Amino acid sequence: MDCIFCKIVNKEIEKKLVYEDDDVIVFPDIHPVRPVHLLVIPKQHVTEFTTVTDPVLFQKLFSVAQNMVKREGLSDKGYRVTMNGGGAQVVPHLHIHVMGPLNPTAAL
Ligand code: AMP
Ligand code: ZN
Repeated sequence: MDCIFCKIVNKEIEKKLVYEDDDVIVFPDIHPVRPVHLLVIPKQHVTEFTTVTDPVLFQKLFSVAQNMVKREGLSDKGYRVTMNGGGAQVVPHLHIHVMGPLNPTAAL
């Protein structure tokens, strides 16, 4: 399958990972919109939010996203955790954006 995020998972595209476990990887977005902009993705190819069939996968993805918010020091600085879907996503491999800081007073 010609999926850019699968290629990152399979190490066909070199990418410095921020986090990796058996099911999930995290890496920086190539076009960050905030100083911290990470993508949390399943290793398994799942197209988008509505095609997830395993609730345990949701648990893992959100648990890792939560840890990233904490680890990046965003808990009290304003952050956004989002998924695009339904054709609004550019990359058709499920990914959670973790972005911050968002607070106007937070240092950029
Ligand atoms: P979305 O619109 O939710 O599908 O967003 C896809 C995101 O993937 C965008 O923010 C892109 O900047 C990002 N992206 C695309 N290709 C790569 C890549 N090779 N490495 C890191 N991020 C990427
Ligand atoms: Zn994929």
